[in-house]
Amino acid sequence: MRAPEPGAEEMATMNQISNRYPTAELKEKDAAHYLHPFTDYKALSAEKARVIVGADGCWLTDSDGNRMLDGMAGLWCTNVGHGRMEIAEAAFEQMKELAYYNSFFKTTNAPAILLAEKLAALSQPQFNHIFYASSGSEANDTVVRLVRWYWSLKGKPKKKIILSRKNGYHGSTMAGASLGGMVPMHEQGDLPIPNIHHIPQPYWFGEGGDMTPDEFGIHAARELEKAIDVLGEGNIAAFIAEPIQGAGGVIIPPDTYWPEIRRILKDREILFVADEVICGFGRLGAWFGSDYYGNAPDLMATAKGLTSGYLPMSAVFVGDKIADYLKHEGGDFNHGYTYSGHPTCAAAALANLAIIEREGLVDRVRDDIGPYLKARWLTLADHPLVGEARMTGLMGALELVPSKPSRSKALFGEVGSAGTICRDISFRNGLVMRAVRDTMIIAPPLVLTHADADELVARARKTLDETWVELKKQGKVTA
Ligand SMILES: *Cc1c(COP(=O)(O)O)cnc(C)c1O
Repeated sequence: MRAPEPGAEEMATMNQISNRYPTAELKEKDAAHYLHPFTDYKALSAEKARVIVGADGCWLTDSDGNRMLDGMAGLWCTNVGHGRMEIAEAAFEQMKELAYYNSFFKTTNAPAILLAEKLAALSQPQFNHIFYASSGSEANDTVVRLVRWYWSLKGKPKKKIILSRKNGYHGSTMAGASLGGMVPMHEQGDLPIPNIHHIPQPYWFGEGGDMTPDEFGIHAARELEKAIDVLGEGNIAAFIAEPIQGAGGVIIPPDTYWPEIRRILKDREILFVADEVICGFGRLGAWFGSDYYGNAPDLMATAKGLTSGYLPMSAVFVGDKIADYLKHEGGDFNHGYTYSGHPTCAAAALANLAIIEREGLVDRVRDDIGPYLKARWLTLADHPLVGEARMTGLMGALELVPSKPSRSKALFGEVGSAGTICRDISFRNGLVMRAVRDTMIIAPPLVLTHADADELVARARKTLDETWVELKKQGKVTA
């Protein structure tokens, strides 16, 4: 005899995989089998990972039942917040109809087409074409292949160098990590790949010296001009940059920076690529970070907020200058992924964009929750441990310093030691804040409520107080 069909409630519980295993067992299995990304394996094996079992809005639940405010929107991606059934249902419906098919060999599918049309409509007028991949890294790999191929088709095969910035983040594949300016990543895997050149970043707090932020913004931008002069415009394919550096520590460039970059790139034969993987889809209170800053890139790499992280998908926006030329010239682009234009991911992206539009989340960041959180976040600057509090849209940072008003962090000792202490205390206080070196950063979901924002800042302040006490004990702060 067949077992009776489980009821809906029973099914729901059965489907909750994490609830079928005791926490201790999961942690053991995790340590035994799972190699995590960007993780010190020795340290994690000793300590064990935290198991997340559920999430709703801006709140996470771990397997011990602790509720944590998700100050990082997952990993800068859950723009519409957690637990949106609408996206789950869109994916489910699409899976029932056509879960997967590829876009190779002259085939296509409705969700990928409609999404490309939608993305073209949401972006600046030069963007009418989309190339899909599954991650931000793959989007940037696509950019490298595409811009080099474009110039060689145009009879300028020497234009190969891609200018990028120190401490920028563009992903973790060979090309993504090469474009990125993270030295510890370059050290593993013999990177960067050839013809990537890094210029300094517009990080006033850390590198501005005696200059005012505005002076430093011009100075940092002119590093691009210098690099072009030294390397030769005839050898340079593109310049890639995030509107605001995210993983580098929420580095908000001085106001003078982007206008000066635009002046430098004007009339140059150098493609401008915006890495919008974080800034795209509303984070700065505009659809794209380029819109916020008034930049007009030739290409944009996007991912994260495209699906709010519900399924992996990325999109490269290809400007008409390039797309029209490729269409005119013909020839195979020998590049693409099994999952380029994945119909289920595209359906999830469309549902996600529908939520962002319907709930007016982009304007909400600009006019409501962005200014609301910023006003409160900036009050943290009065804390003895905080050398600077900054925020644009819903991306914020706190520069921890041992001794105000000096911006030096030397007394902390090893770079990142104070940040790690603060990060761990923050988790204990039920707030996910990330540490980049000794800078604390947040990028909460765009649906953050006013009450969530108040809670976030209260927990951050408590965390700073406790961190200060701990660092005082270690002799790493004065005052
Ligand atoms: C996260 C990120 C990437 C890489 O995206 P993945 O999906 O992790 O490959 C690229 N660029 C920026 C700016 C990012 O923040």
